[in-house]
Amino acid sequence: MGLVKVFKKNNYFTVVATKNISKGESILKLRGAFSSIPDKYSVQIGEKKHLFAFSEKPEDESSSFRFLNHSCSPNSFFDMPKGTLVALKDIMENEEIVFHYCTTEYEMTSPFMCLCGSLNCLNEIKGYKYLSEKNKTELLFQSSPHLKILETEIF
Ligand SMILES: [Zn+2]
Repeated sequence: MGLVKVFKKNNYFTVVATKNISKGESILKLRGAFSSIPDKYSVQIGEKKHLFAFSEKPEDESSSFRFLNHSCSPNSFFDMPKGTLVALKDIMENEEIVFHYCTTEYEMTSPFMCLCGSLNCLNEIKGYKYLSEKNKTELLFQSSPHLKILETEIF
């Protein structure tokens, strides 16, 4: 059994830990189909590369990444290009696993108003491109290498 399980809570899905996870531990490995065009559920894994789950069914273990919710105070991040979700802190069994969408997505197709409730909530989540320099610095460790490449590209 994997370390995560997808649950439906009210009208949305959440990904929760099935057991205690230690800081630095790998939670899941990204597997899916590549596309150059993102959507609401894809995860950006390269400059022009977005990963889609093989299945949209929450019971399929390989699709669980598409149900990960955002938090401005996340407990996990994607170690790219390894494509591994890693615990940023100790996570308790049944705790929701969340990551900061702006640490993988350069420019989101579906920006939203965040209600994560953390003290450092950015309110509007639109992608790495729109972060302040201060926020980029704070998220440096969690941010995927392709974001820094995209940022410096001149078209
Ligand atoms: Zn927030």
